[in-house]
Amino acid sequence: MSTIADNIAQVAARIRAAEQAAQRAEHSVRLLAVSKTKPSDAVREAYAAGVHDFGENYLQEALGKQLELTDLPLIWHFIGPIQSNKTRAIAENFAWVHSVDRLKIAQRLSEQRPAELPPLNICIQVNVSGEASKSGCTPADLPALASAISALPRLKLRGLMAIPEPTEDRAAQDAAFATVQKLQASLNLPLDTLSMGMSHDLESAIAMGATWVRIGTALFGARDYGQP
Ligand SMILES: *Cc1c(COP(=O)(O)O)cnc(C)c1O
Repeated sequence: MSTIADNIAQVAARIRAAEQAAQRAEHSVRLLAVSKTKPSDAVREAYAAGVHDFGENYLQEALGKQLELTDLPLIWHFIGPIQSNKTRAIAENFAWVHSVDRLKIAQRLSEQRPAELPPLNICIQVNVSGEASKSGCTPADLPALASAISALPRLKLRGLMAIPEPTEDRAAQDAAFATVQKLQASLNLPLDTLSMGMSHDLESAIAMGATWVRIGTALFGARDYGQP
């Protein structure tokens, strides 16, 4: 049996156990497989084991894999930092963007989303760990950004994304994810998505309302950024 398939089964069991612990419906949490730095063969293996949604951080790498995998009906999510000169390719080649943190980027994505494609699903990345992270809008800037993005014609604002600072303290981890959930609720917009939780903290994120968990290492193993 393949390791990736084993890992998927283990992560699916962790997700189900966390749903149950939080008295949430089965399949209320969806698995986004983060395939950054991993070859298209790993994506193929994960697809064969039942995963359809894949997250990528680096545009050129993602476009290369997409070309190698056009035979599969995959759903691609962009989850990395976005420079404005990358928005057109992102608008043309992804179904979701989880990492929008400023209006200029959202405006470009809306203008550049091809007319024949459905609206691009958007999560606003919010920074709930202050100095610890440079990515994400501040909680103070979130309400104005969310209302401006929800008015853009070719985008569909779905919810928030966050990467709280990792901590071994479960109560502190829960508190950080709870902050994201409260920020989302305070917006009073029809949002259905909370993209939060990674390999090490998915249980905490699911307890606090995550609907997408973004999982890399626990599915594909450690990433090697070192060697070419
Ligand atoms: C790499 C990455 C992940 C996956 O992290 P793991 O700890 O490997 O599960 C999730 N979200 C984002 C934004 C990432 O960059």
